[in-house]
Amino acid sequence: MIKDNYQVALKCLFCKSDLTGPEDAEFESGDLIKCNECGEENDFDSVLEVAKEKGLEQVTADVEAELENSLGKLLSKKP
Ligand SMILES: [Zn+2]
Repeated sequence: MIKDNYQVALKCLFCKSDLTGPEDAEFESGDLIKCNECGEENDFDSVLEVAKEKGLEQVTADVEAELENSLGKLLSKKP
């Protein structure tokens, strides 16, 4: 099943914890996001790059699974 939305957590580049800013925080390019776990400051652009890659992996895996599923059904229809 291909989901129509994906949520990718922003992870600390240092300790891999989820980055949770203030409730209504909006980050933009050039910002530093301080990690609550280790206290390191993460460059927002780098964090976003990692999140994008992760998101892409997730989508690709889901699409592949869906394709295999469809293909399997197709093949099982053979007499
Ligand atoms: Zn951290």
